[in-house]
Amino acid sequence: MSYTFADTEIAQYIRGARNQGTGTQTQPIYNPATGAAARTVRIGTADDVDAAVASAKAAFPAWSNTPPIRRARVLFKFLELLNQHKDDLARLITSEHGKVFTDAQGEVARGIDIVEFACGIPQLLKGDFTDQVSTGIDNWTMRQPLGVVAGVTPFNFPVMVPMWMFPVAIAAGNTFILKPSPTDPSPSLFIADLLKQAGLPDGVFNVVQGNKEVVDALLVHPDVAAISFVGSTPIANYIYETGARHGKRVQALGGAKNHMVVMPDADIDQAVDALIGAGYGSAGERCMAISVAVLVGDVADRLIPKLLERTRTLKVLNGSNLEAEMGPIVTAAARARICGYIEQGVNEGATLLADGRNFKGADAGEGCADGFWLGGSLFDHVTPDMRIYKEEIFGPVLACVRAPDFATAVGLINDHEFGNGVACFTRDGNVAREFARRIQVGMVGINVPIPVPMAWHGFGGWKKSLFGDMHAYGEEGVRFYTRQKSIMQRWPESIGRGAEFAMPTAK
Ligand code: NAD
Repeated sequence: MSYTFADTEIAQYIRGARNQGTGTQTQPIYNPATGAAARTVRIGTADDVDAAVASAKAAFPAWSNTPPIRRARVLFKFLELLNQHKDDLARLITSEHGKVFTDAQGEVARGIDIVEFACGIPQLLKGDFTDQVSTGIDNWTMRQPLGVVAGVTPFNFPVMVPMWMFPVAIAAGNTFILKPSPTDPSPSLFIADLLKQAGLPDGVFNVVQGNKEVVDALLVHPDVAAISFVGSTPIANYIYETGARHGKRVQALGGAKNHMVVMPDADIDQAVDALIGAGYGSAGERCMAISVAVLVGDVADRLIPKLLERTRTLKVLNGSNLEAEMGPIVTAAARARICGYIEQGVNEGATLLADGRNFKGADAGEGCADGFWLGGSLFDHVTPDMRIYKEEIFGPVLACVRAPDFATAVGLINDHEFGNGVACFTRDGNVAREFARRIQVGMVGINVPIPVPMAWHGFGGWKKSLFGDMHAYGEEGVRFYTRQKSIMQRWPESIGRGAEFAMPTAK
C-alpha cells in the first residue's frame, strides 16, 4: 500500500486535525536536489501554540489515566502502520532533506526502534516496592507523566529525532506538541495521520510549524511542563536557560565535532571505509558525522592517498537514485556557509586536497543543475587553532589532523568544546579500553565510526553537545518524561497510640 502525500501547504495539526492556524506567513519547502519548491509551510504563531497547548491539556487527564498497556496497544498499531509506510516516509525525507533514499530508510528504521522500545512501557513504568520498611509499613515508588510536553527538532532527521521524543513521551502518559524544522516539515503531518489511524485520541499529539516565535511561546507557556530540543549549540543553550527560567524540565542536545582516531595498528582499508561513510554520508549533516580524522604516528602517509581517491570518486547523485552515496546540501544558505568554511580553511593554511566546490549539479542527474550541490572536501594538516577545527561545519568536509601518539590524540579530543560522538580504530584491546575510559565524550565507538546508541540505551553527548542531565530515549528518556512519587502506607491495625515527635525510624 502506498501513501500519497497530497498536501501542498504544510500547516498545523491540533485536536486531531489539520489546521491552518492563525499565521499569515509562509515559506517554501525546497527539494534540495533540484532547487525547486514543491510545497510551502505556514509559519505558526503564539496563538497557534496556545491552541495546541489547550488541545494537549484537555487530552491529558483521559490519556494519562489510560492503562499503560492500552497506551502501548495504540503504539503497536502505529508501529504496524509505520512498517507499512516506511518507504513512503523515506521518500518524503529524500524529497525535502536531500539525503539518499537508503540513508532515509535507515533513519526511519532507527525511529521505528524507539517506537518498539516505547511499546514496552508497562514494564518500563513498573515501580519499586519494599515490603515492611518499618513494622506494618510498606513503601513504593511510581513514575507519573508530567503533563503537556514539547519537542523542538532539527532539519537533519525529520523522522528519527521526533521519534526520539514523542513515542516515549506519549507512552508514558504525556500529551505532546512537536515543533519540527520548517526546512523539511512534511513528515510531521504524515506521522500525525498515522497516529490518528492507530487510534491515538485527538489532542495527544499536536504539531505547530514555525520558528523562534513558536519556540519562545512554548518556552514561556505555563502549561508546558518540559521541552526536549535537538539542534545547534547556541539554540540549545538558549532553550536550556530560558526553559529552566520558566520552571520547565529541559533536555537540549546541541552540535558536535566528532573525531575518529586511527591508530598505527588499525586496518587502514577498514578505517578508510569508515571515514568515507561517516564523513560524507548524509553530506556530513549528521550530529554523529565524523568531521575530524586524527591520524596517529605514520598513519597519515598510508591512509590519506586512499582516502583522497575515495573522496574524489564519491557518487554524488540525486538521493532518489539508488546508486547515490551522497546527495545535495539541505539549503542554498547551508551550502554557502560550508563554502565559506572551505575558503576559511585555505586561508588558515590547511592543505585542501579535494575541493567539493568544483562539483556541478548537472552531474548529479537530470533536473539537478539548480540544486544545492557540493562534492566531498578533504583537508590535510589541520591544526587545533583553526576555525575549521574548532567549529561545527555540518557539511561534507573532512579535516585530517596528525598526532604523534595516542596521548596527544586523547588530549586533543578532551580539549574540544564539543563531546557528542567519537571513534577509535585499533586492534589493541588495551588501547581501546583506555580510550573508552579516558575520553570526555558521551558516545564512543571502538572500530564503530557512528556509535548511535540503540533505542534502549539512550542518546546524548557531553560538554557543549548536551545541556541538561538526561539523555534522549532509553531509560533516561522514560525518566525525563515522568516524575517519581514515593508512597508510604500503613493500616490502622499497625498504628500505635500517641503522637510521635522524634524523626520516624524503622521499628
Ligand atoms: P537549529 O538549531 O538551527 O534548529 C533546530 C530547531 O530550533 C528548529 O526547529 C528551528 O526552527 C529552531 N530554532 C532555530 N533558531 C531558533 C531560535 N533563534 N530560537 C528558537 N528556536 C530556534 O539546527 P538545525 O540547523 O535544524 O540542525 C542542525 C544542528 O542540529 C547541528 O548543529 C547538529 O549538530 C544538531 N543536531 C544535534 C543532534 C544531537 O543529538 N546532539 C542531533 C541532530 C542534530
